[in-house]
Amino acid sequence: MAAVSVSTDQPVRVRLAPSPTGTLHIGTARTAVFNWLFARRHGGQFLLRIEDTDRSRSKSEYTANILDGLQWLGLSWDGEPVIQSARIEAHRAAIARLLASGHAYRCYASDDELTAMREAQAAAKQAPRYDNRHRDLSPEQEQAYIAEGREAVVRFRIDDDAVITWNDLVRGPMRWSGSDLGGDMVIARRAPAGEIGDPLYNLVVVVDDAAMAISHVIRGEDHIANTAKQLLLYEALGHAAPVFAHTPLILNQEGKKLSKRDGVTSVSDFRAMGYTAEALANYMTLLGWSPPEGMGERFSLDDAAQVFDFDRVNRAGARFDWDKLNWLNGQVLHGLSATTLRDQLVPLWTERGWGGSGPVAEPQWQLDLAILLGPSLTLLADGVEQATPFFTTPELNDDARAQLEVEGARPSLAALATALDQHGGAPLSAPEAQELLTAAVGAAGIKKGVLMKSLRAALLGSLQGPDLIETWRLLHRIGADLSRIRRCL
Ligand code: GLU
Repeated sequence: MAAVSVSTDQPVRVRLAPSPTGTLHIGTARTAVFNWLFARRHGGQFLLRIEDTDRSRSKSEYTANILDGLQWLGLSWDGEPVIQSARIEAHRAAIARLLASGHAYRCYASDDELTAMREAQAAAKQAPRYDNRHRDLSPEQEQAYIAEGREAVVRFRIDDDAVITWNDLVRGPMRWSGSDLGGDMVIARRAPAGEIGDPLYNLVVVVDDAAMAISHVIRGEDHIANTAKQLLLYEALGHAAPVFAHTPLILNQEGKKLSKRDGVTSVSDFRAMGYTAEALANYMTLLGWSPPEGMGERFSLDDAAQVFDFDRVNRAGARFDWDKLNWLNGQVLHGLSATTLRDQLVPLWTERGWGGSGPVAEPQWQLDLAILLGPSLTLLADGVEQATPFFTTPELNDDARAQLEVEGARPSLAALATALDQHGGAPLSAPEAQELLTAAVGAAGIKKGVLMKSLRAALLGSLQGPDLIETWRLLHRIGADLSRIRRCL
């Protein structure tokens, strides 16, 4: 960990700059968490910029997914999101300035020429780079290319002997050499003579970050080489550079960068699986950040914002740990009030067509079911699976069937059914339920445990499930217990 103090004499303004070319990725969301925490910690602003300049890949439904995911996680942003594509004139103006000041120039090299150049480099076992061949064209050479009808990209000069340094809030002092940046960089796509084509990523980010007065750029470490290039652009454009913090990548179980191949990578996927926003936000904070001693691992974003700083962000990649996420999610669910839990479960039950009418639609019954299931939930979705035998009559699984073959199982269930019939539809208190069990066991002359297991088998179709007496009482309230016992006799 690098101990770099944060100067907060200037107002903290950070931003998340997602590209709407896919759904909100867990890596982007984690970057959002760190930005949000940092802004909160320093009383600053957290801004949003939608980087939609790749027109062919950007989609409005991805923008909607990103905004929705951030909102769901509780990562509120300040002001309206900046839409990058709307700022293209500012980007072009900056390129025009760089052309005028000689920091940039037009390069007419054709695709074929560039391919031949790269092949020659590969043959000579050199790293691929642009060899700056059009850096100093004479006006005559340029005219000749234009006369040929060639289009030009705009390239930004990167001197090989340039030395780029910055103090990274995560990684400490950083030093890059211009010669490692691949030669003069394209900042605008090909366009006919005299025009400026579509501005490209490094240029637009610098222009926008400067325009938005961003004080700290907090983003994934896959952008480190971009930072070196962007610092040269800040200098050439005469803008003060922000402070940079490069956060570690999120790795899969094998220690490789988490990718689409790992399956679940979008915030919306986690949400659909039944993770709560609170647990996911908590978990993402732990992905790369170590809370101070005594804080524990279970905390809210607001708690973390009180103490967040980059000294506690690790440099090493953060391995995704499903067990920890599951544990946190269980903690969050177990901490919910009964009514909140019920209110979260009811829509999931409704999706299945459960609980719309009849006794199972009764709010108090649903609340009691939520209370019964709550302690065993890891995911909200478990509250659907575990609620299934309460809304639909379950088939008996093999274990349940085997249990009914145990000596005394059926006779004791039969005795229980008779007693239950006499009890009628009136509510069943816990002591009454216990009395009925004891009486039935006495009649059949077996151990109570046998009847309890058999009753569970009859009611739930399985030997697993929540507290038996409470399960029975809930099923009794909707008139579903006696028939389930009788079908086993
Ligand atoms: N649009 C870029 C991305 O999604 C933004 C990177 C940055 O924060 O500068 O990777």
